[in-house]
Amino acid sequence: MKNAVIFSIGNELVEGLIIDTNSKYISEKLKLLGYYVLRIETLPDRLDILSERIRIGLSEAELIITTGGLGPTEDDLTREAVALAIGRNIEIDKKIADELIERAIKYYGKSPESVVKQAMIIEGAKVLNNSVGTAPGQIIDIEGKKIVILPGPPAEMMPMFEIILEDLRTDDAMYTRRIKTIGIPEAILMDEHKDVIYSVPEITVATMASYERGVEVRFTGSINQKEDIDKIANILIERLGDNVYATDDDTIEDVVYKLLKDNNLTISFAESCTGGMISSKFVDIPGVSSVFKGAIVAYSNEVKKSILSVPEDVLNRYGAVSEECVKIMAKNVKEILNSDFAVAVSGIAGPEGGSEAKPVGTVCFAFANKNSVKTFTYTLRGNREMVRKRSTLLAFDISRRGILEWLKLVKNTRE
Ligand code: AMP
Ligand code: MG
Repeated sequence: MKNAVIFSIGNELVEGLIIDTNSKYISEKLKLLGYYVLRIETLPDRLDILSERIRIGLSEAELIITTGGLGPTEDDLTREAVALAIGRNIEIDKKIADELIERAIKYYGKSPESVVKQAMIIEGAKVLNNSVGTAPGQIIDIEGKKIVILPGPPAEMMPMFEIILEDLRTDDAMYTRRIKTIGIPEAILMDEHKDVIYSVPEITVATMASYERGVEVRFTGSINQKEDIDKIANILIERLGDNVYATDDDTIEDVVYKLLKDNNLTISFAESCTGGMISSKFVDIPGVSSVFKGAIVAYSNEVKKSILSVPEDVLNRYGAVSEECVKIMAKNVKEILNSDFAVAVSGIAGPEGGSEAKPVGTVCFAFANKNSVKTFTYTLRGNREMVRKRSTLLAFDISRRGILEWLKLVKNTRE
């Protein structure tokens, strides 16, 4: 198996100002590509330290990946450090420099001298185009080993890494399937289905439970075990039925989006305790405008009354966190924003506001379709952030289940 070392470079990382998410992302991918990641090193922008650690890394691993230190400023030294470590020259690529200058003038009206620093290319390196930002990446082949230099910002690094992914694949590449569920507690799921989940000892099983994403079961094995892994995954998917909300890279938002899009349907939200979180998550998806009408963030009772027409009487009698209230919120936001479906959420996120009858974590949901409204109440655990994030997940899950039910109904009436 080939070894790899990942370097995450930048003073801001060492000083604890920024969390290193790049290494997590890269390490996970490298494992699937068949590498053994020897270690992840977080290093400051120091030429001596960087070149020394890269030299050592190269003596132990077939693949070195660096992220960060590619900016235009004085402190960014990764290019120089790699060149020094491997004893190669570094030169400004005229064409790339001209492009960077042109771009700087377009955005800033002038081009600081420092931008050409990002056009410094190490002798013999293959240039990796950066479609999001400015600093290009570089790949250097050196005696059968590879050094890959990538920029620090994750939004730039990730698409560049995806492009070179296939080139990095080894004979030890792995295969993985992920099954994402909501509705069955982790311990029960794993116990009830252990006969399938653990049926092939060579396949690694990992489960992850989180309040934001539910319970995920992940099967990983060598690429030769693809058939077995798919078989196990498919049996589990069938057994868990509606509780599987997505597989592999899909998120619950993606699934709701696809269900709506494929059937030409639209949705809107009325958000109280989530304060726009559901909408914000949904609009992360490019193209969502074709299915998402909008949302009303009805945080105060005043807005619930004036905009969503929840009668004062309902608020007095049942409270803002009640199935009676969310039912009206869902129905009315659907009318106001003219969507096919609507979801309403109102809950007590805490830390204050709970009572004996409605403790912190009590959250009411409603799903409205053309004919009817269904309501649900959950008592969620955790702090304010956890309750709001869990509520967002549940709002999408209630949407998903509601849309599926609607589609079944429509199909049955047609037949
Ligand atoms: P660079 O100009 O290439 O040094 O990249 C600098 C910026 O990228 C930092 O200010 C961070 O916002 C981000 N960044 C750098 N390294 C990482 C990392 N390992 N994980 C997450 N973000 C990072
Ligand atoms: Mg930097």
